Amino acid sequence: MKSLKLRILTLLACALFLFQPFQVLAQQQLSEKEIDQKVNTLIKKMTLQEKVGQMTLFTSDMTVTGPTIRSDYEKLIKQGKVGALFNAYGADYTRKLQKLAVENSRLGIPLLYGYDVIHGFRTVFPIPLGEAASWDPSVAQKSAGVAARESAAAGLQWTFAPMVDIARDPRWGRIAEGAGEDTYLGEKMAAARVKGFQGNSLFATNTILACAKHYAAYGAAEGGRDYNTVNMSIRRLRDVYLPPFKAAKDAGVATYMTSFNELNGVPATGNKFLMNQVLHNEWNFNGFVVTDYTSIPEMIVHGFAKDETDAAYKAVEASVDMDMQSGLFLSELPKLIKEGKVSEQQINKAVARILRLKYKLGLLQDPYRYSDATRQKQEILSDENKQAARDVARKSIVLLKNENQLLPLDKNIKNLAVIGPLADDQEDLLGPWSGAGRGEDNISVLSGIKAKVSPETNITYVKGAEITGNSEEGFEEAKEAARKADVAVVVVGEARNMSGEAASRATLDLPGVQQDLLKAVHETGTPAVMVMMNGRPLTITWSDKYIPSILETWFLGTEGGNAIADVLFGDYNPGGKLPVTFPRHVGMVPYYYNHKNTGRPKAEGKYNSKYIDVKNTALYPFGYGLSYTTFSYDNLKLSKKSMSVDDSLQVSVDVENTGNRAGDEVVQLYIRDLVGSVTRPIEQLRGFKRLHFEPGETKTVHFTLNPDDLKFHDINMDYRVEPGQFKVFVGGNSKDVLQTGFEVTQ
Ligand code: BGC
Repeated sequence: MKSLKLRILTLLACALFLFQPFQVLAQQQLSEKEIDQKVNTLIKKMTLQEKVGQMTLFTSDMTVTGPTIRSDYEKLIKQGKVGALFNAYGADYTRKLQKLAVENSRLGIPLLYGYDVIHGFRTVFPIPLGEAASWDPSVAQKSAGVAARESAAAGLQWTFAPMVDIARDPRWGRIAEGAGEDTYLGEKMAAARVKGFQGNSLFATNTILACAKHYAAYGAAEGGRDYNTVNMSIRRLRDVYLPPFKAAKDAGVATYMTSFNELNGVPATGNKFLMNQVLHNEWNFNGFVVTDYTSIPEMIVHGFAKDETDAAYKAVEASVDMDMQSGLFLSELPKLIKEGKVSEQQINKAVARILRLKYKLGLLQDPYRYSDATRQKQEILSDENKQAARDVARKSIVLLKNENQLLPLDKNIKNLAVIGPLADDQEDLLGPWSGAGRGEDNISVLSGIKAKVSPETNITYVKGAEITGNSEEGFEEAKEAARKADVAVVVVGEARNMSGEAASRATLDLPGVQQDLLKAVHETGTPAVMVMMNGRPLTITWSDKYIPSILETWFLGTEGGNAIADVLFGDYNPGGKLPVTFPRHVGMVPYYYNHKNTGRPKAEGKYNSKYIDVKNTALYPFGYGLSYTTFSYDNLKLSKKSMSVDDSLQVSVDVENTGNRAGDEVVQLYIRDLVGSVTRPIEQLRGFKRLHFEPGETKTVHFTLNPDDLKFHDINMDYRVEPGQFKVFVGGNSKDVLQTGFEVTQ
C-alpha cells in the first residue's frame, strides 16, 4: 500500500516536473533558427487563400480614419482571411476577436493588432513635433516606452509610428506628427522612438512593433497640401528625406508603411526603387511593409494602375507585404498567382516576413499574452505614466519671448486673468492622433494654474472668443478681466483637428479673431503672456512685436496644464528649442534653415534672392528658444585644423550659465561644406546636447565630427566626403553661433 502511494507521488512529481519546464519553455523566446523552421513548416500547411489572408489588414469598427469598407471582418477572421486588425484595442475586446482567429480559423494563426499610437496611448504625451522641441532623444524614447507598455497591456502589438517624414512646409498638417524640418534631429528622434516602442526584446509583453512611416517623401507634398504630388531629385531624397528611415532601420524597426504620395511619377505603394532597391537591396530590411490605408486602389486614381488587379500586382511587385484595408490582396492575388503573373514563392516571402514577427512577439506560443486586463488596469494612466507625461511636456515647451523677464510669474500674484479659447480646454490638449486618449483625463491650463497659485490669488477666467469664427462678443469681458489683473495669461492657437492628416492650411495665422483678442488685452496696458497651442509654426509677427512673453507649448497631452503652470510660475525653467523654423509670412514657405546659398543671397539691394514685402529672415530660427537664465559661449576649439577624408575631429566649446537660475541649454553644432561637386546647404546640424547648468556653472562641451557627418551624394551620386574647406558653427540656435573652420585633405 505504502509503496503504491509512493509510486503515485513519484509519478505526480515527475508529471509536475515534466509539465513545468514545458510551461516555461512555452513562454520562452524562440531562436531565429527555430522561428525560421516553424515559419517554413507553417507556410507549407497554408492554402493560397490563407496566405493572402495573412497579408491582409482590416480595421475593426471601433474607430476609423477612413472608409470602413468591410463590415464582415469577423466572418473573414474565422475563415483565416485576415492576418491583422487595427483600430481594435482593450484587453477584453482584443481577446474576443483573437478567439475568433485562434479557435475558428483552420490553422488558428493569431491576429496581429495595430493602432496609431503616435504620442501616447491613454496617457497622452506631447505631439511628436513638440517632443522634438525637447532636443532630447531620451525623452522620446521614454514616452514611446510608456506608450508601448500601456498599449501592449490593452492587446496591441504594433504601432503605426514613428512618423519620420521630414517636413519643411508648415502648411502641411502632418508636420505635427514628426520631428520637424531637420534630417539630423529627425534621425535621432526616429531611432529613439523605435527603441522606446520595441525595447530590448519584441518577446516582452510590454513592447510593441514600431512602423517607420510614411515611406517616402510624403512631407514634401507640393504646396503643403496633403496627399499631393512629390517631385524631387534622388540626391535630395537620399540626403534629406531618407536618412531618418535608415536611422529607424538601424535601430531595428520591424515594419515600414508606404506613403500616399507619388514620388517622381510613381506612387510610393508601387515604387520598386523605394522598396526593392533601397529598403531590401541596400538596407537589407527583413521585416514587413504595410500600405497606408487604401493606397493600393489609390494607384488607379493616380493613373498608375489600370484596375484593381493591376494595382495589387504593382504593389506586390514592389515588395508590399501587407494590404491595409483595401482587401485587394485578398481578392486579386490568388488570381494573379494562378495566371502565373505572380509567383507563389514571392507570396511565401511576404507571408514569412509577417509570420516571423508574430513568432517573435510570442503570439503563436500564447495568442492572448498581450490582452491582459490586470496589467491594463495597472498601466493605464498610472501615476508613474502621468509623471512621465508631465516631465516630457515641460521639456517640450519653448520660450519664444520674455521681455523684462515678465516670466516666471509670482505664485503669490494678487490678480490674474486667464483668457482665451484654449485656456480651459481639455479636448484640444490631446492634439491630433491621440490614441486612446480622452479629453476628460487632461489638465487644462486653467486647472494647472489654479493648482499652482497661492490660495489668496484671484483668478478671473474669460474665454473671450472661439478658436475659429468672427464673434467678438467676449472681448469686453476679457478686457475687463485684464484691466483688473496684474498679468493676463492668454491661451490661443489651433484646434486639435487643424493639424494632422488632411488638415493642411493655406494660412499660418492664428485662426479666427484670436489675434484681435490679444490686441484687445494688450490695449488695456496689462502685461500679457501668450501661451500657444498648435501643431505647426504660426506666423505670429504681431504678437512678437507687442506681447511681452510668448510660450510655444504645442499640444502637450494629458499633463499639459500642469506642465504649462510649472513653467509659468518658475517650477520648471523652459529649455526647449524649435525643431522647425517659424516664418514671418506664409508666402515665404518652404523656408528652412539648411537651404542653399544661391548666387545672390543678400537680404539688401534689389537683385537678390528675397521678397520685397517681408523681411528675409525667420521670425524665430531653427534651434531657437530662450530660458529664464542666460548662456554664453566661448573658446570654440578644434582638435586639429586639417584632417583626411576618413579621419575624425574633436570640437569643444565652453558654455556658461551667466544668469542666476539653474536651467537647460541645448548646445548645437552645425557645419558647412564650402565648395562641393554639387552645392551644399549654408549650414547643417551635426550634433546637439541638452545639458543642465547650475547658476554660474561653466561646462566644456565636446563633440566629435566623423566622416559620416561630412558625407553627401556627390555629382556622381557617390556617398562620400569631398576634400576641401569646412566651417563649424556652435551656439544655442542655428543663427547665433561662434565659428571656426578646418580643411579636409584627400
Ligand atoms: C494615415 C496613417 C495611419 C493610417 C491608419 C492613414 O490615413 O495616413 O498614418 O497610420 O491611416 O490609421
